[in-house]
Amino acid sequence: MKTPVAIVGAGPAGLLLSHLLHLEGIDSVVLESRTREEIEATIRAGVLEQGTVDLLAQSGVGERMKREGFVHEGIVLRFAGASHRIALTELTGRSIMVYAQHEVIKDLVKARLDANGKLFFGVKDAALYDLDSPSPKVRFHREESVEEIEAQFVAGCDGFHGVSRPSIPSRHRQEFTRTYPFGWFGILVEAPPSTAELIYAHHERGFALVSTRSPQIQRLYFQCDPEDDVKSWPDARIWEELHTRLATRDGWTLAEGRIFQRGIIAMRSFVVEPMRFGRVFLAGDAAHIVPPTGAKGLNLAVNDVRVLARALVDYFKTGAEEGLKAYSATALRRVWRAEHFSWWMTSMLHRFHDDTPFHHRLQLAELDYVVSSRAKAITLAESYVG
Ligand SMILES: Cc1cc2nc3c(=O)[nH]c(=O)nc-3n(C[C@H](O)[C@H](O)[C@H](O)COP(=O)(O)OP(=O)(O)OC[C@H]3O[C@@H](n4cnc5c(N)ncnc54)[C@H](O)[C@@H]3O)c2cc1C
Repeated sequence: MKTPVAIVGAGPAGLLLSHLLHLEGIDSVVLESRTREEIEATIRAGVLEQGTVDLLAQSGVGERMKREGFVHEGIVLRFAGASHRIALTELTGRSIMVYAQHEVIKDLVKARLDANGKLFFGVKDAALYDLDSPSPKVRFHREESVEEIEAQFVAGCDGFHGVSRPSIPSRHRQEFTRTYPFGWFGILVEAPPSTAELIYAHHERGFALVSTRSPQIQRLYFQCDPEDDVKSWPDARIWEELHTRLATRDGWTLAEGRIFQRGIIAMRSFVVEPMRFGRVFLAGDAAHIVPPTGAKGLNLAVNDVRVLARALVDYFKTGAEEGLKAYSATALRRVWRAEHFSWWMTSMLHRFHDDTPFHHRLQLAELDYVVSSRAKAITLAESYVG
């Protein structure tokens, strides 16, 4: 099989890249190791930056998002028992959209299949080779047979645990990692919203986040030991922890409900440089990871493919290679900004195992500065909305 662009991974990065290329008349094949049902049911991100929303809308896959998503014009920082609003829109002129990642996935899969896009689910053992030759290849198992794609370019959009990044010889990549000594316990709850805007809470016992998915479904997180077992958290213990960390002095209450999904996620910062080797380009989580505190992962993936799609379109339409040559440096500039923001939000809002009372006072002083200085609030708001 031959194709201009072979795309490994049908996450937001791979699907959107395939869609953007299709709009410009460029063919691609997307290989995904999981089933359509699995990728459409995996609960992950929920906060879309304005730029992400605009790109989805402009490229014709934003209709349901505009109908079912929720525009938020602020977030709340909560600490020392009080809430403080960061007025995102007033401070930056922009807003965010709360619309779940798996809904974005559904919209993109539908758009690709409606356009007869080549999207292969359930492929196994994808292997990339000849990456620094003019015709890189991907070999894989599909329905009991071995198949091979010969492409002009390969886009490695297969997430942090994918095969694309490790296919680049280690002497051609430099990796930067920070692992945090805590994770997030996340739950999905059948309950009405407890708040009109997301609440980021700092508490002596650790961080908590109140987010939403719909008027009926709420998404809540609290900082936990990454080695903890979900079984050691019966419902009553979860609610007690959330009530404690989110308590205010003004009588705010958290609405409880049936918990129907729960899990623990690890927290990591990671970047690989460069994001290109020969004719393979990495995009999204395959190239970088941020802790979810800044809500940046999905948005970075979208930005990568925005830049990559433009470069590939330039190449296929005019033969110009400047965009492809600049891809890694262009994407990494935004990646490192988001890495810093996500690290900063994480450091300010979580308790670390080696915290001293001195360190805790510094965190409170910084939070107080963010909510009392317009300049500092703008710094947070600008990065948050993207
Ligand atoms: C709990 C949680 C909350 C988050 N909240 C936010 C948020 O609010 N805002 C935000 O912006 N980001 C958030 N993120 C991060 C965001 O979900 C990711 O950054 C985003 O999914 C990255 O998209 P991607 O397409 O690069 O990778 P992925 O979504 O990981 O997609 C990669 C795809 O490749 C497939 N694949 C892997 N290996 C292979 C292989 N060998 N062959 C073929 N296919 C393969 C995988 O099955 C997967 O479908 C959150 C993440 C988590 C876990």
